[in-house]
Amino acid sequence: MADILTFPDPVLRQCAVSVAEITSEIQTHIDLLIDAMHRGPGGVGIAAPQIGVCRRIVVVDCSLARHSCKHHGQLVMINPEILTQSGQVMGREGCLSVPDWVATVPRAKKISVRYINEAGEICELMSSQFEARVIQHEIDHLDGVLFIDRVVSSRDMVRRMVDAYIETAAEAAVETTTATSLS
Ligand SMILES: [Zn+2]
Repeated sequence: MADILTFPDPVLRQCAVSVAEITSEIQTHIDLLIDAMHRGPGGVGIAAPQIGVCRRIVVVDCSLARHSCKHHGQLVMINPEILTQSGQVMGREGCLSVPDWVATVPRAKKISVRYINEAGEICELMSSQFEARVIQHEIDHLDGVLFIDRVVSSRDMVRRMVDAYIETAAEAAVETTTATSLS
């Protein structure tokens, strides 16, 4: 079981290294990421640096969201790259590595992404709304960027109530009513 690193751990600020080959070690990292995502309250995505592995791997699964949204199920994305992006939408985000805060953050509304899947195949997909937000949030982790870096105004940051942690954690990933797109 992998521990989830939390801010201000310096590993979260490192730029992750591309994966050259899907070895058994990489597969182990993927399994640990999926496990850690399922353990986190409201976890719909996680990036390898969050478990101390500075490799370009993210896992996203928006079928785990508490609200219904369009999604591609569980995605294991190795060396993911955003190819195109369009629109902008504000939405609320939380992060397993920044457990005390939620914030409203601008993100592209629609993206296309290229990545390598677990089988080593090059894939491309179009994603929008909540899932696109989650993918952008996770890819940011690979470059040492946290959602708190993208907050436009300090008024957009809210301290999570400790007592209501489990409840609000899942809600943190849900888009606000003003957002036409994702979380
Ligand atoms: Zn995060």
